Amino acid sequence: MATLEINFLQTQLEDRKRRLEDAIALAPANTSLSGLLREVDSALERMDKGSYGLCQECHDTVEQDRLLADPLVRYCLDHLTQAERAALQRDLDLASLVQRKMLPEAGLRAGGWETSYHYAPVGPVSGDYCDLIPSDGHLFFVLGDVSGKGVAASMLMTQLHALFRSLTSTSMPLGQMVSQANRVFCESVLAGQYATLVCGQARPNGEVEIHNAGHWPVIVAGRGGVLRIESTGLPLGMFCEGEFSGTRVQLEVGDTLFLYTDGLSEASNAVDEFGVDRITSLVRQQAMKSPAEMIAAGLDQLRAFAGPEPRVDDLTLLAIRRSA
Ligand SMILES: [Zn+2]
Repeated sequence: MATLEINFLQTQLEDRKRRLEDAIALAPANTSLSGLLREVDSALERMDKGSYGLCQECHDTVEQDRLLADPLVRYCLDHLTQAERAALQRDLDLASLVQRKMLPEAGLRAGGWETSYHYAPVGPVSGDYCDLIPSDGHLFFVLGDVSGKGVAASMLMTQLHALFRSLTSTSMPLGQMVSQANRVFCESVLAGQYATLVCGQARPNGEVEIHNAGHWPVIVAGRGGVLRIESTGLPLGMFCEGEFSGTRVQLEVGDTLFLYTDGLSEASNAVDEFGVDRITSLVRQQAMKSPAEMIAAGLDQLRAFAGPEPRVDDLTLLAIRRSA
């Protein structure tokens, strides 16, 4: 560990030691305080001996980000104690619950549109983002995929959720909304993190405006055939400044929009990837079905294609049909 970090952690520990000593003077009967003080003393002692930051089980270095978050950590991730493992699992379970709460209502109908979605993280939390926001007689829909996986991706996903929830309550034009979200998002991502995303506004008269920022093509299907709406911009978070241009399509009653993440398009078996062509024919075959039936058919075909191979990507499917 670099001298700078060690110095920082040492100052942190000395400060904690002083605070603990003060607290113990006021509450000498509190045994948890004296236990903590012993741990702080032992960490300071390890710093003196030069063994600080090494796992007590395997003697490898403990992950630096974990030490910075908790300078008392004594084991690497591979050698957590049972209690530490259980605490980590509880945190993840809670994060998963918080993320589930952010999903839109199942089977939501608004402004003459009916919807269905399937949201399946590969681990406890997902970097996929899916939202349906009815506002002022319109239906906003957003589906995105934050780069990376796990907790870091899920935190950025929750930020996108908050951004779009607040932006859709303004009467800002959709393109401006996406630029604004990009600007704020850009300031919070680390280099190399970004989100591909489709954001749309469906009006009661069947008109739909769609912005596809670096995401997979949206498939539109109906009596008139099948149409792909390709990306017209870069993913969010890559560059802070940027214009986002949209596409407008007119949907008739019974026409459906189908959106998905790479859990579908990049699902693979021993020989091949599922791919956008298979998705296009799937949507063409199911064009006259309800959104829920289309999603169910998509999941059936994915299972038949990928077989028992464990999934490697978060999976989200979203279907939106003009019903009136
Ligand atoms: Zn270890």
